[in-house]
Amino acid sequence: MKIDKESALKSLYEEYIKTVTDAPVCDNAGGFSFVLGDGDAESPVVLIGEAPGKDEVAEGRPFVGKAGAILNEFLQGAGLKRSELFITNAIKYRLARVGKSGKGLANRPAKSAEIEKGAEYLSRELEIISPRFIVTLGNVPLKALAMCTENDLCQKLSEGVGVCHGKAFESAVGETERKKGAVIFPLYHPASTIYNRSLKSVYAEDLEKLSEIIKKST
Ligand code: URA
Repeated sequence: MKIDKESALKSLYEEYIKTVTDAPVCDNAGGFSFVLGDGDAESPVVLIGEAPGKDEVAEGRPFVGKAGAILNEFLQGAGLKRSELFITNAIKYRLARVGKSGKGLANRPAKSAEIEKGAEYLSRELEIISPRFIVTLGNVPLKALAMCTENDLCQKLSEGVGVCHGKAFESAVGETERKKGAVIFPLYHPASTIYNRSLKSVYAEDLEKLSEIIKKST
């Protein structure tokens, strides 16, 4: 039976929002501002980021700020069309703390319990979309995705993006009988190229490799 992906995702996201707000796994300054997955749910390619930032919350879409602009540039360079992808985050609310001056909000790192909770829902989100390619952007989504895979691969992916980037791993993803095989392709987080400029060429090469693998399979 073909499932209606849009309505299945809508119900899943409603449940996620209720779970996070009713029983938060940790404090989040300013409450919870959610940004959910966006794009073509029929796409064979899903990109997973860490969590939305201020710009994403303002627009209600993932990767629309500075990191999004860098991601768009890399995608374009590799001939991948953003409009043909599905983009989501491992944690679907802004990870916020009170700013240094005591005013406003600043981003904060994800806590382990938040990654684990995010992984539960990410696993179900991926089962619904059932993509052929799952691309993680940075360490947090890689850690979350590792929790959705089988033991051996989970251990391998847990070595982190520095070891796993630019390589393709095949695995069943999910926890229920609906789980399906996918190619997992870890990339650095696009924002990491701001702080470490030498990663720019690595990033472009990795994406080129990914683009070739996708083209071969379609
Ligand atoms: N960084 C992320 O990891 N996700 C976003 O949606 C935006 C920036």
